[in-house]
Amino acid sequence: ADPTVQVPELLGSPLLDVRDTSALPLPPALYLDGEGRGRANSNGADLTAPHQRAPLQAALDTVRVDTVPEATAADVDAAMARLHAGFTAWNATPVAQRAAMLRRAADALDGRLPEFCALLVKEAFKTQADCVAEVREAVDFLRYYADTAEHDAAHMQGRGVFVCISPWNFPLAIFAGQVVAALVAGNTVAAKPAEQTPFVALKMVELLHDSGVPADALALLHGAGETVGAGLVAHAHTAGVCFTGSTAVAQIINKSLAKKSNAPVPLIAETGGLNAMVVDSTALPEQVIDAVVQSAFRSAGQRCSALRLLCVQDSIADGVIEMLKGALQQLWVGKPEQLATDVGPVIDDEAHAGIGRHVERLKREATLIAEAPVHDALPRQIRPVAFEIRRVADLGDEIFGPVLHVVRFSGPVDDVIRDINALGYGLTLGIQTRIDSRAERLASLASVGNVYVNRNIIGAVVGVQPFGGEGLSGTGPKAGGPDYLRRFAAEPRIDAPA
Ligand code: GLU
Repeated sequence: ADPTVQVPELLGSPLLDVRDTSALPLPPALYLDGEGRGRANSNGADLTAPHQRAPLQAALDTVRVDTVPEATAADVDAAMARLHAGFTAWNATPVAQRAAMLRRAADALDGRLPEFCALLVKEAFKTQADCVAEVREAVDFLRYYADTAEHDAAHMQGRGVFVCISPWNFPLAIFAGQVVAALVAGNTVAAKPAEQTPFVALKMVELLHDSGVPADALALLHGAGETVGAGLVAHAHTAGVCFTGSTAVAQIINKSLAKKSNAPVPLIAETGGLNAMVVDSTALPEQVIDAVVQSAFRSAGQRCSALRLLCVQDSIADGVIEMLKGALQQLWVGKPEQLATDVGPVIDDEAHAGIGRHVERLKREATLIAEAPVHDALPRQIRPVAFEIRRVADLGDEIFGPVLHVVRFSGPVDDVIRDINALGYGLTLGIQTRIDSRAERLASLASVGNVYVNRNIIGAVVGVQPFGGEGLSGTGPKAGGPDYLRRFAAEPRIDAPA
């Protein structure tokens, strides 16, 4: 059946088809190779499509997550000694062989899509669409870094032992992306996944070992950031650190590295965002609302790219806010294993309490626009919510949940970008306008890593939209971009002429 439904009376515009998006498959994650060919990783399964759900249902019924033992200080020392000793052999392994291991792992992961989706549901409470997208993104990282390493083979000499510390919000894609980038560049890797999501990391490391990565090149160390993470960062064998997580923790890592007495250690940090979308009076409100719902509420707002601040030009603000109220009423807050669900629970009690306190404060200090109803009541749910605040500068710290702040503006739109820049972060920005020259000007004024025009601001595609920010949002290089691997590598040695 054709899922296109024309609703001209709602739109007042002949320009747009409104689609029943629930009937459409997700766009396959894909990246473009050097010749510009699309490389979709999908193995054909779209587990969000009702007629293809059997494999996922089977995996949900059988796959179990388990607890893992925490690494002790002695475990950290032993792993670092082993990885330090393993470096020479791994770094001498030809790049083509290292890349081949990544490709074997990509194929294996692609083939185990239902199992890894089930792990993501059970350990991170991800919705169906988010699980499929995340497994595909992980596969894309593996294939893309294999290709870029071979392309840049002369530069792929490692630095030594790289410590990779990854977040719970993409416990497979970011975890795997960091680890294989460091590995394929020639480093051995000590991986410390978030303590909330250890099991999916364990399964991914097993898969990498099964794909040929030696035990002396990759070790997994579970535990808290304050203990295991801190011990790894401070370790004498550490030659580089790759961290994705909060800005505050990146600053702690930076200080710890600064105190070390051996050679300076590079830090690659991808941190938080206070991401905005600027909507001028020429924008298409239906498109704005779709982009806002995806960007602010999908993944329960637990993406560093997520939308926190919607800035709407005064003349269309009433209309946009009215539509936003309607959209919030339609959101389905429920069980992550159900296809119908838009927003699942947040990651843990601490996150739930912190977001809850922020919402309570906004209920006192700001104007409530609307709060989504709950469909199935579960622990750790946050009802997606939008508030109107007075000024961009009133936005507090990054709140990692489904909470949207809306500001109206009546002055020059350039000033709004300046106010957003003044927040100090610089990750993603959305621009909604039908004036091309304005989109270009605002994009050039903004101090951010990723600008998206007339669409949502999440889900950067590996190889197509290299992802990473500036300022408080991180050091670069951009993940899934052509320059990422070189930052993990040592400076190439120039041989004296014969
Ligand atoms: N790469 C993800 C995106 O574009 C965000 C990653 C993160 O939240 O750390 O939405």
